[in-house]
Amino acid sequence: MLNQNILALGKKRSTIREIFEFGNQRAKLVGRENIFDFSLGNPNVPAPDSVQHAICDIVNTQHPSAIHGYTSAPGNEDSRAAIAESLNARFGTDYSAKNLYLTLGAAASISLCFKALAASSEDEFIVFAPFFPEYQVFIEHGAGAKCVVIPAQVQDFQINFEEFENKLNPHTKGVVINSPNNPSGVVYSDETINRLSALLNAKSEEYGHPIFLISDEPYREIIFDGIEVPFIAPKYKNTLVCYSYSKSLSLPGERIGYVLVPNTVDEFEDVYAAICGAGRVLGYVCAPALFQQVIARCAADIADISIYEENRNILLEGLTSMGYNCVKPEGAFYLFPQTLEENDYAFCERAQKYDLLLVPGADFGAPGHMRISYCVQTETVQRALPLFKKLAKEYGL
Ligand code: PLP
Repeated sequence: MLNQNILALGKKRSTIREIFEFGNQRAKLVGRENIFDFSLGNPNVPAPDSVQHAICDIVNTQHPSAIHGYTSAPGNEDSRAAIAESLNARFGTDYSAKNLYLTLGAAASISLCFKALAASSEDEFIVFAPFFPEYQVFIEHGAGAKCVVIPAQVQDFQINFEEFENKLNPHTKGVVINSPNNPSGVVYSDETINRLSALLNAKSEEYGHPIFLISDEPYREIIFDGIEVPFIAPKYKNTLVCYSYSKSLSLPGERIGYVLVPNTVDEFEDVYAAICGAGRVLGYVCAPALFQQVIARCAADIADISIYEENRNILLEGLTSMGYNCVKPEGAFYLFPQTLEENDYAFCERAQKYDLLLVPGADFGAPGHMRISYCVQTETVQRALPLFKKLAKEYGL
């Protein structure tokens, strides 16, 4: 007898994957260029040249066992030290190798945090809609804890503090944030972060145990209009940072990222050890060795993300002028407008008639919206606008 919950997860593809596969089938019939696939968050800009240079240099100058061999479980000490130095130079922090655990991207980093922190099935982790749907899978099936969803504050996608406060209780083990956000593209303001931090401090004190803030930051560098994204860790002492180079360096297939456990975390040494323990349990040890070295050399670099800002501008202006409602995203590469009918599944299905592939907001815990992933060629965005217009006309706009 198999684990039925896990079996069900394996049998059911995520909606995003379903839509992506639908696009592949349609492409065979009508040509790839006629499919407007806004489903996946797969970066379409190349990794910076420094990444290619680093790969070539490492491969050409080192012995294969040094390139491809096992590393220590949390990652090479040199690589971790290089990442820590890069963070310190940027954020004025004082991290070192002992604060970092290298992983297979943000998905693994977040899973490790839930697994390390959840001590019982009563433990709760709070997520704010709209949220990356895999959080729920990692919390419930990976860590065996409860996932508590705070409904979206749709007018600006900042935190709905009233609902949040109502849901905090002594079982709350952690709170997950993701800014810049997938799927809304919204960046949490300083005010939101300060209020969140004050509330978590007060509640940790009241309950007599820390509430951890799990800050999922794969889009930290993908920001527009010259805005600054507050670096969360120094603002709340019990923050665990989950980072990935999938988006900032356009390396999603290479599976490399980290968990940062700052010294300020209560019982720092035990929390770090618990992350290592979770790594053993889940098998997330020795992150890809070649890319540990590549990252050490390229930690401060970033892919040319100017195309994302251009795509955002074209889409936001185009859709708004047609009558779609959308909160302006300041980062990541997603737009999250309201659908033109309440049923977002029905709306996205209608869009498919035009080969516009959009993801229903309900998948992110915010029905009545659609996610448009615009990490695509600008020409694709431009050619899609008349189709969005035709779709809007069906709704009388
Ligand atoms: N967290 C968020 C918010 C994401 O959007 C993604 C991927 O799209 C991940 C985590 C997983 O990223 P990775 O590819 O680094 O595992």
